Amino acid sequence: MPVKDYKEQLIPTLKKYFGYDSFRPQQEEIITSLLEKKDGLVIMPTGGGKSMCFQLPSLLFSKATLVVSPLIALMKDQVDGCNANGIPAAYFNSSQSSEEQQEIILKITKAELKLIYVAPESMPSLNNIINENYISCIAIDEAHCISSWGHDFRPSYQQLSFLKKSLPNTPIIALTATADKATRQDIAEQLGIANAKQFITSFDRKNISLTVRPADGRVEQILNFIGKRPNTSGIIYCLSRKTTEQLVAKLKAKKLKADAYHAGLNFDERSKVQEDFIFDKTKIVCATVAFGMGIDKSNVRWVIHYNMPKNIEGYYQEIGRGGRDGLAASALLFHSYADVIQLRRFTEGSKNQDVQIAKLERMKQFAEATTCRRKILLSYFGELLAENCGNCDVCKSPPTVFDGTIIAQKILSTIARVKENEATGAIIDVLRGAKNATVLDKGLEKIKTYGIGQDTSWKDWQHYIIQLINQGYAEIAFQNHNALQLTEFSKNVLFNGAKVSLTKPIDALEKIGNPKEKTTKKKKSSELYERLRSLRHKIALDEDIPAYLVFSDATLLEIERARPLTDDDFLEISGVGQRKLEVYGDLFIAEVIAFNKEKSIKKSDTHKVTYQLYKEGLSIDEIAIKRNLKSPTIYSHIAKLYSEGKPINIFDFVSKSEVASIKKAKTELESPPALKPYFDHFEEQIDYFKIRLALAVIDKEA
Ligand code: ADP
Ligand code: ZN
Repeated sequence: MPVKDYKEQLIPTLKKYFGYDSFRPQQEEIITSLLEKKDGLVIMPTGGGKSMCFQLPSLLFSKATLVVSPLIALMKDQVDGCNANGIPAAYFNSSQSSEEQQEIILKITKAELKLIYVAPESMPSLNNIINENYISCIAIDEAHCISSWGHDFRPSYQQLSFLKKSLPNTPIIALTATADKATRQDIAEQLGIANAKQFITSFDRKNISLTVRPADGRVEQILNFIGKRPNTSGIIYCLSRKTTEQLVAKLKAKKLKADAYHAGLNFDERSKVQEDFIFDKTKIVCATVAFGMGIDKSNVRWVIHYNMPKNIEGYYQEIGRGGRDGLAASALLFHSYADVIQLRRFTEGSKNQDVQIAKLERMKQFAEATTCRRKILLSYFGELLAENCGNCDVCKSPPTVFDGTIIAQKILSTIARVKENEATGAIIDVLRGAKNATVLDKGLEKIKTYGIGQDTSWKDWQHYIIQLINQGYAEIAFQNHNALQLTEFSKNVLFNGAKVSLTKPIDALEKIGNPKEKTTKKKKSSELYERLRSLRHKIALDEDIPAYLVFSDATLLEIERARPLTDDDFLEISGVGQRKLEVYGDLFIAEVIAFNKEKSIKKSDTHKVTYQLYKEGLSIDEIAIKRNLKSPTIYSHIAKLYSEGKPINIFDFVSKSEVASIKKAKTELESPPALKPYFDHFEEQIDYFKIRLALAVIDKEA
């Protein structure tokens, strides 16, 4: 097929199989280049839509696309997703019986599969079909695994260099979410695609709000945070196994469904946790960093870092697991000095300790930033953001800066008086005049600044000290029990009258509780949304696939909004392609129709609700307020109820003499069909509602 023909098929294929109307940034260029049989290297953030870059062209190639992928769980998810979209795909790995494997090989030889997923370890078993008779294209997913420069090196990936040698005319596309320049180079060289065109898409994930909080009262903060987001899926990353387990226990004590995930579990246990999460059986996973790679779950709504990650790459990759469906997601990072110190300790003895410490330092700067955090994050990846993002905590409530010179002087002179020999905790103890063992043992109560800062809380002192460190007025001597030391700058403050600006501490609980981020997931999800969700859940159970593979949250929200009644309406929805229309269309349309019907019945029954309240003794105005309707509407209900023979004390609302005059008017006006002629007749002196009620009485009498 000439390239031009391909091009014309891109959008129709996108709609038919994936249900989308347009490509995400760069997808079209990447796909076109691949269809032109050019090699490519794609660097796209998690959730950016990498899979599309080889899944869509696979439909236009005549033979199969071979996808190399590191994890069985990832393959299964992608294959299920493809099949749900009507794309013939399969995976091939060691967990399958040899009959299953033979069947797959047969299908490939008959060109019945568009995509075949395989782990590098299993490639030798596919020897007979990995050649240009059967394969049109090769995709290397998670390509950073090939490079020992990357953060997730897998030796089995290194054998992939044979692919270009044995299939020299087959285009290779390598994809990854994280790769710095050195890693990129390495990937291309090792795969033998040194001339591959590089596609580096923006790393910005606008839909993920960024928040950093001090770590005090983390658990309470987390409970509060989750409480504001009931029934949503999220991941909490912790540094140690023990923390994951303790945290799970605390969440369970609050009746939240949570599981721990760490390297101490065996393979089956870990698969179970992962599966329950993917299938929405567990909403929360408390995990060490081992969790998440290869999880395509699109509706992770939040990611919390209980501990600080050791570098920005890791942090960004982990928060990237939130909001893949493009809807709002939150990333919350807890920052504590204890973590920084521990992470520093981890670097000790490693070969590239300097690099690791420098990376940790950048992570710390991000956590302590007083300017737009996204700018800092993106600049780390070499991307410049022109405007502040508006979706990070700093942008949303910029810190208040004040003259903190006196505070700085108190801290720095305490550091000087303890001979630069004490860590943050002891300095704060001195300032606050603490009488604990450390202070008394060391005789710190004799220091001149002892107790001069009693009126300021521990937490606030800590906040100020961190800022002094960040601004270079003090530093931590990691070699000397993390003692605080003075710097060149501090002398200017102590002796030369230099001014210091500090920011006000913010109350952790106060802010975290009210998520100002644009939570597109409605707080009160509507009745229809809930019905659609439970329908999706039922289907997912029946088909044994994760709910988000039936439809993403984004698609469900759109169905709720558009309320499609026909196949054509349904096909308009983003995320609905031909197969999903055929398989699920009727079910969802039926749900919408049933919902509409119930709603309209309810409308004709609305006066009965009023009757209920009337019987409870509420006044008309009270009923109106309670039902959020206008009083005349309630009066019309009363009239209707009276006509239907309900025991309404109608003369509470209209007097007998008024009824008499209206009766007279009716004859004079020759029973007009509307109320206005009466209103005019009485020169606007009798309210509409009374006319309506009187007419009900008159009709009843007749
Ligand atoms: P990645 O592999 O880069 O982490 P995925 O391939 O899993 O990302 O894609 C993330 C989500 O984006 C999926 O739900 C996918 O269906 C969706 N997506 C991909 N391309 C598009 C598009 N052009 N329009 C709308 N959604 C898309
Ligand atoms: Zn910002």
